[in-house]
Amino acid sequence: MNLVLMGPPGAGKGTQGEILSKRLGIDTISTGVMLRTAIKEQTEVGKIAEQYINDGKLVPDDVIVSIVKERLSKPDCANGFILDGFPRTTAQAEALTESGVKIDKVLSLEVEDDVIIERLSSRRECSKCGAPYNVISNKPKTEGKCDKCGGDLIQRADDNPETIKNRLDIYHEQTEPIKEYYEERGLLVTAQGEDKLEDTTKNVAAALGLEV
Ligand code: AMP
Repeated sequence: MNLVLMGPPGAGKGTQGEILSKRLGIDTISTGVMLRTAIKEQTEVGKIAEQYINDGKLVPDDVIVSIVKERLSKPDCANGFILDGFPRTTAQAEALTESGVKIDKVLSLEVEDDVIIERLSSRRECSKCGAPYNVISNKPKTEGKCDKCGGDLIQRADDNPETIKNRLDIYHEQTEPIKEYYEERGLLVTAQGEDKLEDTTKNVAAALGLEV
């Protein structure tokens, strides 16, 4: 299955992406994780992306489209993939369609802004592998450490109140219209993402037609 996960920042795309990745045996490709890795390594892309991310703005379409295209051309994507955080603009969705990559379903996780703002303040991420956690709803087994790789859990620099507001505004203005783009193509399904993690996981499975 070639799947796109959509939803506002903090909707649970990373967490549900991981769950689906294990269940379906395909990789999650998160543009946010790719960009944060590029910043850490201070690559050319990382240097361009840093200020945009810290301001809660979108990285320019041409930069992001080229790194996603390159990643999707790798052999492991032939069996399927889960895109987390891409496309985020209509231009990116069009570029994906034009690249000839077939998308089977686009899942939109639906969460209201007030829930997002509360959630993002308790969100943590592994500094090594990028795995997502939440100190209230998705705790690691050992406090402050990643279950998968033992890396330190950190709070993202862009999870601060001002940047969160920018990111939500941008989501509504630039990313939400993509839902219509995919609905017109018969690919959009939605799942309620405001419930407990286990319930959201069930909603996601049901929306994708998987056994709940
Ligand atoms: P995320 O981890 O998905 O919340 O992404 C973190 C930040 O990376 C976003 O706020 C953007 O600045 C940038 N970013 C990630 N994916 C994209 C994308 N598809 N287009 C533009 N910017 C992106």
